[in-house]
Amino acid sequence: MHNTILITGGTGYIGSHTAVELMLQGHRVVIMDNLCNSSAQVLGRLRQLCGDRFDFVQADVRNAAALDAVFTSYPIDGVIHFAGLKAVGESVAQPLRYFDNNLGSTTALLLAMAKAGVHRLVFSSSATVYGDPDQVPITEQARLQVTSPYGRTKLVCEEILRDLMAAGAHWQIAILRYFNPVGAHPSGLIGEAPNGVPNNLMPYIAQVAVGQREYLSIFGQDYPTPDGTGVRDYIHVVDLAQGHLAALDYLAREGQSITVNLGTGRGISVREMMETFSRVNHVHIAHRYTDRRPGDVAACWADTTLARERLGWQAQLGVERMCEDTWRWQSRNPRGYSDSA
Ligand code: NAD
Ligand code: UDP
Repeated sequence: MHNTILITGGTGYIGSHTAVELMLQGHRVVIMDNLCNSSAQVLGRLRQLCGDRFDFVQADVRNAAALDAVFTSYPIDGVIHFAGLKAVGESVAQPLRYFDNNLGSTTALLLAMAKAGVHRLVFSSSATVYGDPDQVPITEQARLQVTSPYGRTKLVCEEILRDLMAAGAHWQIAILRYFNPVGAHPSGLIGEAPNGVPNNLMPYIAQVAVGQREYLSIFGQDYPTPDGTGVRDYIHVVDLAQGHLAALDYLAREGQSITVNLGTGRGISVREMMETFSRVNHVHIAHRYTDRRPGDVAACWADTTLARERLGWQAQLGVERMCEDTWRWQSRNPRGYSDSA
């Protein structure tokens, strides 16, 4: 069945890829974004990929009147809530801004949904809610613990959603805990375009490869991992996007809520990622080993059993595709969306 899905934060990195997958499956999409961390150029790219199967509303999700207008103008069947600020370091410096934006947008959205009688929600959470895990792979039952204001916003939103699920069986909520999203759409038309110096490994590697940064700093080579560098569960953003479709299907089919990890279940080290990027794309990545980054854990990857069994979803794309697709996007859009037509 074809639905109309509201995507908050839909011009952002993960939201734009999810919009494409939804539209390719025949759904209609309404994107609501205030463009605080994304570009309006994304809209033209989405049109190139999917035609006119979407509408865009430029508004802040904390704006109750704007939300009400969306719910009265469109027959919304479900919501995917990506909108939020996501920079860990910035959240330490500006915690109030993070609480206001991330908690305020979530409660405003839930109030508007309740008012409109829409109870199907997919929420972007993060493996950051596991903090420093006691063991890997991490299952959904692992202890929750956060180490930054950003992480706290994800945990508090999860708790708000659990209170809602407890209060009424009519809420159908999927809390998706993403591991490390990387890569780009294979068309090279949409991808990750961070503002300023990237915090994350893959966009940093891509910017070194394209000549925008001199070298990659590898944060630590003395972790208790096979090659001494940090290990993470990187997941291709198109796989991740498809995980959202699987979650929406699950909610419609089972009528029950779920909290689930979205990762590949495979740990990749910093060195392995850098060397794979270099090999498959035939580019040199200048690098230096430096001290560990404060707050980093040695290794973190997902137990993906629940996603496989309950959602019938598992990641398909490996690390080579993550590197190839990142490079196609980065080499065709060296400055992200900023100098595109
Ligand atoms: P992004 O910054 O690219 O996208 C978020 C979008 O939300 C942006 O387009 C921004 O303009 C918009 N936005 C922010 N606050 C808003 C508000 N109040 N009103 C309207 N729009 C608003 O980030 P992303 O990487 O696509 O992440 C999407 C979601 O997934 C976020 O909630 C993030 O915390 C979560 N997440 C991301 C990662 C990651 O590594 N990228 C990992 C785990 C979880
Ligand atoms: N990392 C690195 N250099 C960088 C950015 C990241 O060595 O410029 C390492 C980091 O220490 C971690 C891994 O790459 O081991 C993934 O970091 P990222 O910030 O992308 O994800 P997170 O640590 O939030 O899972």
